[in-house]
Amino acid sequence: MRALVYQGPGSAELQDRPAAQLVTGDDVVVEIVGTGVCGTDRKILLGRFPARPGVVLGHESVGVVRETGPQVRSVGVGDRVVVNPTLYCGWCVPCRRGATNFCRHKAGTEVGVDRDGTYAEAVTLPERFVERIPAGLPFHSAVLIEPLACVLNNVEAASVTFDDTVVVLGAGPIGMLTALVAARQARRVTVAEPDGYRLEQARERFTHVVDVADADPAEAVVKASGGERPSVVFDTSGTGLDSALRLVDDGGRVVVMGFDDTYTVPLRPLRLTNRGIRLIGAGDYRADIFPVAVDLAAELGDPRRPGVGAVPVLERLVTHEFPLERHAEAFAALGGLAQGDGYGATGRPPRYDALKVVIRSHSGPVGSDGWPVGA
Ligand SMILES: [Zn+2]
Ligand SMILES: [Zn+2]
Repeated sequence: MRALVYQGPGSAELQDRPAAQLVTGDDVVVEIVGTGVCGTDRKILLGRFPARPGVVLGHESVGVVRETGPQVRSVGVGDRVVVNPTLYCGWCVPCRRGATNFCRHKAGTEVGVDRDGTYAEAVTLPERFVERIPAGLPFHSAVLIEPLACVLNNVEAASVTFDDTVVVLGAGPIGMLTALVAARQARRVTVAEPDGYRLEQARERFTHVVDVADADPAEAVVKASGGERPSVVFDTSGTGLDSALRLVDDGGRVVVMGFDDTYTVPLRPLRLTNRGIRLIGAGDYRADIFPVAVDLAAELGDPRRPGVGAVPVLERLVTHEFPLERHAEAFAALGGLAQGDGYGATGRPPRYDALKVVIRSHSGPVGSDGWPVGA
């Protein structure tokens, strides 16, 4: 089967790999329909997030079950499923506490990072890491379930209530999803973004959007809010913590999201204690959040409840789609692999021409719901 293999920083190559097959009795083989390109994939290729050279990249994926081991009970051949790429052992101390995202046996199990991922024609996984997708959910909404799980975990960690004013730094797919989920709870949500394309996309969806291209993000947002500071800031850029700390109101919460291992910020603890600021890192998601994300996707992606225009709010976040062999174009649409990144961290932020980009593994005809005909 064809698979996109990580060759080390800056490079990935389409290779022929042995077809995915059942290894243990509770395995399933999923024929991948498509995989969302995640900021993490790009950071891996930029050498800013560690991954194992030789691994098949990709983790935000949906597909159709093609084969099941003899012990598999929860899914059957032909079921449409979403992959939960955050594997866990289930018996270590954090796992038994429910914190499966902090499983102590993660090494070699992170799909698309150090275990073969889904930019491929198929993948093998134990059955508990695939979740059935409700009938009628279009492909473009289903492919956002994994990032949605991530966002749910982070919004939950901030304990957002109706009394909160929220600022989301970054209007990429994670920023947009964070703003959508937070807006179900908070009194006011503001999105801050430097990129022209993403600003335009954000303005179509949200009332309060601030252009921070040529300004200090913290100052620009406070100014646009009439001098008010938010009680919660989500940094979805991975490089905005400094701005977030200057922006948040006293007594507020800052949630760090986004992955950039090269970004650092000098931190004076007194700044946190004096101002009563809680700094929150919530990671990806516990296993129990995954089915919640499936339900929420079914609601936000319901074709009978259009968002902007005639397309459901979730589906509209997917702006581009490329077949596996055009993977380079997918990354080019997301700022490419050679430019600076983030809020003044390393010069100018990248230029984006897309929100969510999907790489399709399946090459046959598709129906109006984006799923392969007959799947
Ligand atoms: Zn991801
Ligand atoms: Zn564990």
